[in-house]
Amino acid sequence: MNKIKIYNTLSRKKEVFKPIHKNQVGMYSCGPTVYSYPTIGNHRTYIFSDILKRVLEYNNYKVKQIINVTDVGHLTSDADEGEDKIEKAAMKEGKSAKEIADFYFKIFREDFEKLNILSPEKWPRATEHIKEQIELIKILEKKGYTYKTGKAVYFDISKFKNYTNLSRQKLEDKNVGVRENVFVDKEKRNPQDFVLWFFTVGHFKDHALRWNSPFGIGFPGWHIECSAMSMKYLGKHFDIHTGGQDHIQIHHTNEIAQSEGATGKKFVNYWMHGAFLTYHGEKVSKSKGGLYTIFDLEERGFQPLSFRYLCLTTHYRKPLDFSLEKLKSSENSLERLKNKVCSCMDDGKINRKYLLDFENAINNDLNIPKALQVLWNLLRDEKAEGKFQTAKKMDSVLGLDLTEKEKISIPEKITKLAKERQKMREEKNWKKSDELRKKINNFGYTIEDNEKGFLIKKK
Ligand code: AMP
Ligand code: ZN
Repeated sequence: MNKIKIYNTLSRKKEVFKPIHKNQVGMYSCGPTVYSYPTIGNHRTYIFSDILKRVLEYNNYKVKQIINVTDVGHLTSDADEGEDKIEKAAMKEGKSAKEIADFYFKIFREDFEKLNILSPEKWPRATEHIKEQIELIKILEKKGYTYKTGKAVYFDISKFKNYTNLSRQKLEDKNVGVRENVFVDKEKRNPQDFVLWFFTVGHFKDHALRWNSPFGIGFPGWHIECSAMSMKYLGKHFDIHTGGQDHIQIHHTNEIAQSEGATGKKFVNYWMHGAFLTYHGEKVSKSKGGLYTIFDLEERGFQPLSFRYLCLTTHYRKPLDFSLEKLKSSENSLERLKNKVCSCMDDGKINRKYLLDFENAINNDLNIPKALQVLWNLLRDEKAEGKFQTAKKMDSVLGLDLTEKEKISIPEKITKLAKERQKMREEKNWKKSDELRKKINNFGYTIEDNEKGFLIKKK
């Protein structure tokens, strides 16, 4: 097994990865809050954790990855303020909270497929683990970490030593819980204390998602689900926890306090965080309406894997400023790369020299931009042997379908146009069908008619 170095937010250093159990890795990635379409910002973080998982697997580790689904408890601010995101969306769309969560979770999984992000071993949902969350709060209560007000059960952060270990903030700077907002609780002891269990009182009195608990009727806070579900599926102490960098200061800090408070043990060995996808320098965010979804990109004629390629060109700890021009250039590069790989003769050999350079890059805190460069250099090297098999092996990490000549994903918009054209042909509306063919051509696709219907090809 090769040495893998990864950057640990806890130590702010690159460290050699040492698993708790030989050849196995337990990995938890904070999952989506399923109240609206996932943005390409969210997906940048999941592409990062997917690459991490693939690099570990490349190095022969068996990875057990869990990604949770937040379908209750995440308020419009991470700091326990505002309304529940799912309930708010349900009201707006005139649906039940479950319908909202199911709908957006399905879209999320479809995006995973389009982006070649491997599915986790399990997708536990917060609403299906209420019992586990209550049990954990009961333990914290017994150990004296909690207190109750008329509005909620809180975690008292002053009782937990090293609360700011991960964020390295000064407590007095961390005044997130004190902003004026709908959910203000004057009985809170410390501004940073966070909710473990909300009571369905006050502005939550009509909250549809509610459960009985020994503390009172209500629903769990956002942070407790990740402690309860990660420990249920990966054990009290596991290897790697990932998320976007916005989770360092509140969510992950609180997860550590809850889990270590309850078990008295170290919770996670390596905390890894992906930098933001920005647009004109600002974080791409769902709550601000998101920027682009994968569907939006398809509507503009892009292949989702071009977005994956774009993400791979920047190191996961560096911000990536998105633009359609950059995406277009990634699409072109990906196509050229794929054409080069597919036109290589397969001599059945592996090129050890290039593969070693590739391995050194991926094992050095996932230096994928460098690894991609190694692949390009291999393909450009006229004398190199083993190009096809080596590229195939590298693609097990990159996940770009480089050797699958036939597999180009056709954007939904193009398929829709092609179907419309087919209908026009059946109705013998040749003028309209010709116009549609031209439109499809302008997006860079051609259409061939055959006895079964039609075949779309990339030009
Ligand atoms: P959410 O669905 O908002 O709970 O977020 C799901 C994941 O996406 C979390 O790990 C966030 O940190 C991450 N995330 C949200 N916005 C961005 C962004 N603009 N760039 C990168 N990651 C993001
Ligand atoms: Zn989480």
